[in-house]
Amino acid sequence: MKNTLFDLSGKTAIITGCNTGLGQGMALGLAEAGCNIVGVNRRPPEETQRQVEALGVQFLAIEADLGSTAPIAEILQKTEEQFGTADILVNNAGIIRRADALAFTEQDWDDVLDVNLKSLFFLSQAFARACINKQRQGKIINIASMLSFQGGIRVPSYTASKSGLLGLTRLMANEWASQGINVNAIAPGYMATNNTEALRNDPERSKEILNRIPAGHWGTPEDIAGAAIFLASSASNYVHGHTLAVDGGWLAR
Ligand code: NAP
Repeated sequence: MKNTLFDLSGKTAIITGCNTGLGQGMALGLAEAGCNIVGVNRRPPEETQRQVEALGVQFLAIEADLGSTAPIAEILQKTEEQFGTADILVNNAGIIRRADALAFTEQDWDDVLDVNLKSLFFLSQAFARACINKQRQGKIINIASMLSFQGGIRVPSYTASKSGLLGLTRLMANEWASQGINVNAIAPGYMATNNTEALRNDPERSKEILNRIPAGHWGTPEDIAGAAIFLASSASNYVHGHTLAVDGGWLAR
């Protein structure tokens, strides 16, 4: 008998920031499960589009800079034009700025909070409104971080955004669970992407991090695809407000 719990055939997922890294890994994972993908990016996600289409599902590219909330209405509108209401929203786009807390600038604070938290909230709100208006089920997956649980160092606005995101995930779940919307988050550990390039290039920090990961290696974009499929599918219908660590055991230490 075919297992349909994780089947996403005929569904549509909006994924922000899927031209590279974890967003690309999740786009490919969801597409493999049968899901059409709406990729929201600043630049054309050509490689992701090619790989997703090769899996036999559709890909719609929407150009948008989530440093502001201005493009949100258009993202929903274009998705509706091609697919009707989306079933899944993956809030993945995120940035990080590194500097000592004593020297941290207001610009680096605002830039990070705008993308990682403000646009994420208002895109989720627009998605949830569309689901509720059409009385359709929805799945929201927020990409959190180890710094949703820990303080980190030299990344004050990132820690604030990702710690805030854990709480916001719970709040949205509390308000929307009864309306058929699951809101959950994935907290990736230390993954080899552009986001961690500076850390991986610093021999001392890189060694410290690797020594603390029970799995003994950095994660890859493919490593979070399974958690994304779970949280996007009917397998997680009774999971609400949870932040799932995919971290090679980092938090267990
Ligand atoms: P990444 O390779 O830097 O990817 C970040 C993605 O976000 C890119 O597609 C980027 O697009 C997009 N993005 C950034 N600013 C944007 C904006 N203003 N508008 C639209 N898109 C924007 O890093 P990643 O590691 O895959 O990060 C993905 C998510 O995972 C982030 O939320 C990050 O905080 C989180 N995360 C990563 C790790 C890790 O170890 N790598 C750990 C925990 C959490 P551009 O190419 O245009 O910049």
